[in-house]
Amino acid sequence: MLFAGCSAGKPAETSAMSTVTETTAVSTSESTSESKKKRVYPDNCIIDPTVLDRLDESITLDFKDKTIIETGTVNGRRYSFTIDLTNWAGNTTADQIGELSRLFWQVYPALYERFGTLSNAPVDVVLLIEDSGYEIAEAWENKVHLHDMWLCNNHEDFDCITHELAHVIQCGWDGERLEYSSYIERFADYCRFIYCMDNGGYNDSGWTLQTVTDEPDRESSVRYLVWLDYKLSGPDRDFMKDYFLVCTKGEYASSDWKKAWKKLFQGTEFEGKSVDEVWNEFAKSDFAGLSSNAERGETSELLAKSNVRKKIRNLR
Ligand SMILES: [Zn+2]
Repeated sequence: MLFAGCSAGKPAETSAMSTVTETTAVSTSESTSESKKKRVYPDNCIIDPTVLDRLDESITLDFKDKTIIETGTVNGRRYSFTIDLTNWAGNTTADQIGELSRLFWQVYPALYERFGTLSNAPVDVVLLIEDSGYEIAEAWENKVHLHDMWLCNNHEDFDCITHELAHVIQCGWDGERLEYSSYIERFADYCRFIYCMDNGGYNDSGWTLQTVTDEPDRESSVRYLVWLDYKLSGPDRDFMKDYFLVCTKGEYASSDWKKAWKKLFQGTEFEGKSVDEVWNEFAKSDFAGLSSNAERGETSELLAKSNVRKKIRNLR
């Protein structure tokens, strides 16, 4: 059985974890003067704690051995984010660790509110920064593993963690119940494109949403999912949520997925069309070929023409 994950084979061994200490969550909507108090850090804090001061004041911080534990409530749901530095060798900088914290609180609750309730995904997520075992990053159950050298060599590739958080949200999609098992990775990259940190501030200059030339079929195309969401989701119908639910439930054998697409297209402008006909419509659209890359602070050709990120993020 295939589960969500970026590297094939056994997941990295989980290092011994400190017990997560429960802390009092403060709702982001209750920005009291007390929550704005300056944080107190332990003398032996493993990283320069001032980088964590950039987090919203409502995120509670706790430290235990070599872990940082952040707890907060977003739109009434409590989350925790634990950064396990047991096997951290110091290559990921303190500043980068602060950015990863900021990323979690921007990305994970947004993913959760749209998809996580459908898959009963975990609300307690652990990030392990480790100096061995794999090349980039991977996810398993509620644990995201990041190699300590990755951000050292790729300074701004923070959104590889957005991709991994999408795997946590998938909560064990079974690749044998998808049309192609590669849909596990396509969905994680769809999430990376739509939900990336700081509206693509880091992502769009270094990561590419491939065009139809480079990903020429729905088995390989991330952009096709983005296009379907752009075309078919609106205030009355969340197409990608329905797609996510079909994948989560494993309702269809891979050989039966023509039926799954037919059902997904019901009530949309593509009702009655086959998935191949819809693909052909995508493949000949402008959307399929526009560049997604942009320098920091600028807008890509694709988003300038069809701001799918804004449209989808504003749906709810
Ligand atoms: Zn992956």
